[in-house]
Amino acid sequence: MSSACSTTVIKGGTVIAFDGSEHRKIEKGVVVICGDRILHVGRTWDGPSDLTIDAEGKLVIPGQISTHAHVGAHETQRALIDGGQRQFLRSGFLHFLPSRRSGELGVASQQDLRASLRYGFSTLLRHGITSVLAFAPGGPDDGETMVEAAGEAGIRLFWAPIVVGGRYWLENDGRVTRELDETHGLQSLQKAVSFIERYSGANDGRLSGIIAIDEFYVSTPHLRQRAKEVARSLGIPFTMHFLEQHREFFETMAATGKTPVQELAAEGVLDDRTVLAHCVYLGSHSLVNYPVVDDIAILGDHGASVSHSPVAFSRRGVMLESFERYRRAGVTVALGTDTFPLDMFAEMRTASTACKAVERNFEAAPAQDVFAASNLEGAKALGRSDIGRISVGAKADLVIVDTKNLTFGINPDPIRALVHLATPQMIETVVVDGRIVVSNKKLVAFDEEELLSSVRSSSERMWQHYSRYHPSGLSLTEQFPTSILEWTE
Ligand SMILES: [Zn+2]
Repeated sequence: MSSACSTTVIKGGTVIAFDGSEHRKIEKGVVVICGDRILHVGRTWDGPSDLTIDAEGKLVIPGQISTHAHVGAHETQRALIDGGQRQFLRSGFLHFLPSRRSGELGVASQQDLRASLRYGFSTLLRHGITSVLAFAPGGPDDGETMVEAAGEAGIRLFWAPIVVGGRYWLENDGRVTRELDETHGLQSLQKAVSFIERYSGANDGRLSGIIAIDEFYVSTPHLRQRAKEVARSLGIPFTMHFLEQHREFFETMAATGKTPVQELAAEGVLDDRTVLAHCVYLGSHSLVNYPVVDDIAILGDHGASVSHSPVAFSRRGVMLESFERYRRAGVTVALGTDTFPLDMFAEMRTASTACKAVERNFEAAPAQDVFAASNLEGAKALGRSDIGRISVGAKADLVIVDTKNLTFGINPDPIRALVHLATPQMIETVVVDGRIVVSNKKLVAFDEEELLSSVRSSSERMWQHYSRYHPSGLSLTEQFPTSILEWTE
């Protein structure tokens, strides 16, 4: 036995281990970590132990993978919990994201970027998410703060500054308009490549580059093709927001005569390293109702991946149709956390229950499938066979969930219980790359009260700024009335 690294032995818990083809359950199992890797998984261990973690009565699961997150967007609470203005047709991000044509600064200008990113990465880790594909612009320092904050928190990050092929404007009359700018898109693609050349492998190897176009709807075919070629030549994933907005389908049909999925297939950007964030409004979706083309089959035939964030969509009254139908067609369906909080347990539960409702079938989207979507399928979407699993040789990314409580109760099926009963507050220990980043339900890198107070002032500044951003000067609570009124006397 090599003693070149220090060993951490996690023992006594129910271990969800990967046997090479699927997850298996080991009661009173042992996981041995050596450096950044898993050295041993099984029922016993007689080797050395520099640190022992007693997991008796607990569940040991793979580190969860969020294939879509806006790490620093929590101050607007995703525009007050994903609801929004009626005229934006269920596209929650449009109320605070577009720039004012008049030049008035947007609400995000008031953000304390460092505090915001620290808070976001910390939330991910506290919720058991050890790997994240982040969507964000480079910011004023071309991504340095992002890299630093991820490094401090200890998370595994897949990111490069987004490629922006145009923009939205908030006009003085309150309309949101869209403007394509391919030249800017190609320049931002070059910036992403420069970032990847500089930072790929940073944070002790925990940072991996991706090519992320901000949106299908705000990009041109040439930009998408160039970006995908670059991703292919670098051997990295390619991702973008796609069919998050209802209008994308109809405007693409009107402009090209093809469905957006047919358009992507014709452009040659669909393959097993393309991750489509959301991909909701396909021809077969009931709010589109264009059954002439089997978009799901096209995605499956190309082996494309979908990053599914059901919590945000369900808050807007929209569902993927459906988690199970996409999977059956051969689409890799991974989970994302495109909302607040960044909570994979909530995403798993909603993915399962929403799919059951869509399919009118209580056996649809069983717990093991949404659980796999939070780990193995996420790894597949990112082209990684060394994360999202507890197996010998894999990266030591794992989560210990304390199930000894009245909410979890006594259950012979820990995965069904995890999906339908568990909350992130049960997460006791989180390990990334062999390093403990959450211990005894507390972050290692940051003080949680300080994190909260650091974003409180940033959030309040953004809320106060809102009336200057709003075309008619409405305050945040006038535009988005609070659920109940203030006490008066
Ligand atoms: Zn998003």
